[in-house]
Order: sequence, then structure tokens, then C-alpha cells
Amino acid sequence: MASLDYAHRRLVNTLGPERVARGELERMVYSHDFAALPKLVLAQWRLYPDFVVLPQTTEEVSQVVRLSDETGLPITPRGGGTGMFGASVPNRGGVLIDLRKMSKVIAFDAENRTATVEAGATWAAVEGYLRSKGFALPVVPAAAPASTVGGAINGGGVGYGSFRHGPLRAHVLDLEVVLPDGSVMRTGDARESGGAFADLTAAFFGAEGTLGIVTKAVLRIRPKPEESKAAAYAFPDLASGAAFLTRIVETGETPFHVALIDREHLTFERAVRAETPDPADIAIVTFEGTKDEIPLQEKAIDALAAAGNGTKLASEVAADLWARRHIRYGARRLSRGLVVSSNLVPVARLGEAIARTQALIRRHKVNAAIQVALVDSTTAALSPYALMDDTTLSGGTTLGFVKKMGDLAIEIGGHPIGLGLLMVFNLRKMHGRATGSMGAVKQVFDPGRKVNAGKTIEVWTKFNWPLINVIPPPFMEFGLNVAAALRRAKPFRDRFLKAYERQGGA
Ligand SMILES: Cc1cc2nc3c(=O)[nH]c(=O)nc-3n(C[C@H](O)[C@H](O)[C@H](O)COP(=O)(O)OP(=O)(O)OC[C@H]3O[C@@H](n4cnc5c(N)ncnc54)[C@H](O)[C@@H]3O)c2cc1C
Repeated sequence: MASLDYAHRRLVNTLGPERVARGELERMVYSHDFAALPKLVLAQWRLYPDFVVLPQTTEEVSQVVRLSDETGLPITPRGGGTGMFGASVPNRGGVLIDLRKMSKVIAFDAENRTATVEAGATWAAVEGYLRSKGFALPVVPAAAPASTVGGAINGGGVGYGSFRHGPLRAHVLDLEVVLPDGSVMRTGDARESGGAFADLTAAFFGAEGTLGIVTKAVLRIRPKPEESKAAAYAFPDLASGAAFLTRIVETGETPFHVALIDREHLTFERAVRAETPDPADIAIVTFEGTKDEIPLQEKAIDALAAAGNGTKLASEVAADLWARRHIRYGARRLSRGLVVSSNLVPVARLGEAIARTQALIRRHKVNAAIQVALVDSTTAALSPYALMDDTTLSGGTTLGFVKKMGDLAIEIGGHPIGLGLLMVFNLRKMHGRATGSMGAVKQVFDPGRKVNAGKTIEVWTKFNWPLINVIPPPFMEFGLNVAAALRRAKPFRDRFLKAYERQGGA
């Protein structure tokens, strides 16, 4: 491997000094994503990149990737860094490519209803641009203000709008990708071809940056709806709220978005923002369409809610909850950190999944809240989050709860989303013996293990020596089971909320 000073000189020659950083502060900023990681993990991973680079063109990305052959440094692509399990964080240092300087809307085709955007653009920026032209995205990821086009595609994300318009995946028509050998490929047909032969777009969806670096995407767009409106309904408990969601699916109604949040979520939110609506188990339903359509859609949903003991809340409450849909984890301020368990579960078993999630929360004595959204007519996203203080040893045991949530999702016919550094063992549980074929795909695209290596299919440590260079995924699973057991043995729940209120809180 070349010296770091040599690598620095080569990177500076390629991008110029202002777009190559190696200072302690920059490296620290990029050493974590949204995940709260206990400091203990620094013993096994080198989370700090050696360099952070900010390319502005596909050609520059390609040059940086080719340089890695010379320097031997691994590469980590990164968008907004909003992922939950360390997927956009290095495990062995190296070069971190921040794509956010590639954020332009390159082309906009009203006739064919497509937009071509650079991968570092945030979804909120793309949506804002399209709305100004009378169009909109069919699906907008939940972390839209910070999440990037390339990041959400690689994260395999879900988002607002999929219940009416179909999954995000279906709206990505074509990608430009810099492959690990530096060559540039297109994955599909940018027209509405309905999935032409040899369309490789799907291979990159959910690949977590392990197969190449997405630099551009062609997205399907739709005309901007004439009107949109949110309604909110409080239910006596979460089970009734879940039954309401199931009934919406059964009746074939297709609002733009359907979600359920529990009273704990609003309790946490209120602790950090006094104007938060009164804590309750609340379903939020959003309608889109013409002025004439919306009242009809709303009337049908009102009737379903009333039949399930739902009380319609004031329209200002609904508008406030919808306006703050992208701010889902304000509670992080209560505890310094939190962990999210994102799972897809069958709608048919949603009631059971929620009841068992509540039982897991009690058993592991975590301060947790539950958020649910209908992804489509068969699938719901079940995403509880738990407060944790990642600066304490006992805080790390909260990850045991996330592990058990993933087990639950798989047990009832769903699966967790996101593998990253921490949850690689779930791949085997989800795909069994077929897991080997995922490794084979990686081998085809990245035989030299350059790009986001040591994640999703295997877990590298920071050491490049035989025997201790990888952690077998079952070891990670065992470790998290131990964390869960320790968590259960804890005599009482964490008291973040009380501590925060004592300090004067909100
Ligand atoms: C408030 C909030 C709400 C969220 N809600 C949801 C939700 O509802 N559903 C959901 O699925 N997730 C959700 N997430 C998780 C996360 O936001 C998504 O996975 C997100 O879309 C990731 O986008 P990003 O740009 O931040 O990617 P990053 O976190 O930067 O990266 C994600 C992965 O993609 C890779 N990557 C990034 N850019 C590229 C690129 N251009 N080419 C190749 N690889 C790349 C990274 O290496 C990493 O493996 C939420 C997060 C937050 C903070």
C-alpha cells in the first residue's frame, strides 16, 4: 500500500486541494451516520476515513476509484449519511467519497415524464424543483431533506407515496454507475420500457454501495396533484389503529400515505417541542387528487375510522403532523442518541407484529416508540426506535433490542431493512443458502473488494491480517444476543425522559 502522503498528493492532483480533506474534524464528522454506535466498536473498526473527497463529475468519481488501485485504499461512497447501521461509514479507513457536490437536476422531460438527476441531490431538492415545474415525485423517502438520490436507492428505501403509486424501486428507470474498475455503465433504459432485457437497475437497488458508485439516476415523475390534505384519527390503543390500517387495505382505498404513530412517540416529541399534539395513538392519512376527489376519499376514510372507534382530530393537528413528517427522531435530544429498527412486515400480520413489538419493548426495558406506514397493499413498514446513550456501556445493549426486532420481522414473514456494518448476519437469515449468490454478484462487480467492502455479505475488521481480518456474521449475532440478554437483565427502564424534564427539558 502507498503512503498516505502519496495518496494525498494524488487525490489533490485529481480534485484540487479544496475538495480533499484529511483534517481531524472532517474525518470525525464522517466517522458515523445516523446510527448510534457504542464507542466500543472502535476496537474492531477504523470508522475514521483517511481522506474525505468531494467530486463534482462522473469523470472525477471514476478517477478517484481508479486511484485506489495505486494507493490500495478502500472506498466508501456516501450521500446524506442518514442510514441507520453504519453503511456509509468506513470500517478500515480509506477514501470516503461524499457525493453531495453532484446535486444538479440535469434534464427534465415533461413529455416522457422523467427527470435525470445527479446522485448527490437530496430528494427534497428534486421534489422542490419538480413542483416548481408543475410535476412531482411519485415516492419521496422519509428522510428527504438530507437523504440523497444515490443513498436511498442504495439503501433500498421506502417512502411517502408508495401506497398509492408503488414502491420507490419502480420509479427508478436507469442509473449511471461508476464500477469498481473505474468504468462507467448505464443500468437500464431511460424510457418507460417496462423493464427491458438485461436491465440491471434492480441489482443496485439496496446494494448499500457495495457494487459501484451511482452518479446519475433517471426517475419517473408525475403531474403535481391539484390538492393534498392530511387527516388524523386518535384510537383508544395501537391495536385499534392497526386494525384501521388493515381495513383501509381491505376496502381498496388508496390514499397517498397511511401511517400510525404511538403515544410514546408524541410523548418524546412533546418533551422537546411543547406545541406537539397531545400524546395518543394516531393514524395519519394523506389524500391527493383534484378538489372534487379529496372530499370523497376523506369521507370514505372517516367512515372506516369511526367504525373502528377512531376520533377525528382537528385539521390543524393533522396538518402539523404531516408538515413535520420528515422530523421523526427529535427524541434524540433526550438521550444523546437513538437506534431505529426498520422492518417490512406483512399487512396481514400487522396487529400481531405491533403487539409483539410492544412486548419486546417491555421485555428489554427500552424507552421506545413505534411508527408504522403502509408501503403497499401487502407490506407495512414497522419502525420502532429506542432511545440510547451511546456514550455509556449499558447504552450499547439497546442494539440487542434492534436484533430481536429483526428476528421478529423474519419470523412473521417480513425482514429488517439495512445491513450496513451491524446487521450483516440478517442476510443469511433472510436468504439462507442463496446468500452465496450475493457474494458471487459482489465478486463479479468488485473482484478486488474496493468499494464498501467488508459490509452486507461479510464483516471486515480494521485489521488486515489473517484470522482477525473478518468477524464471522454469527459472532456478530451472538454479540447482539448477549446485548439483548444484558438489556433484559437490567432491573429498570432507562429514565431519559425524567432526566430531561428534571433539567428543565422543553
Ligand atoms: C428521519 C429519518 C427517516 C428515515 N426514514 C426511513 C424510511 O422511512 N425508510 C427507509 O428505508 N429508510 C429511512 N431512513 C434511513 C435512511 O434515511 C435511508 O436509508 C436513506 O434514504 C439513505 O440516504 P442517504 O443519502 O443518507 O444515504 P447514506 O446513509 O449516505 O448511504 C446509504 C448507503 O448507500 C451508499 N451510498 C450512498 N450514496 C451512494 C451512491 N451515490 N452510490 C453508491 N452507494 C451510495 C452508502 O455507502 C450506504 O451504504 C430514515 C432516516 C432518517 C434520518
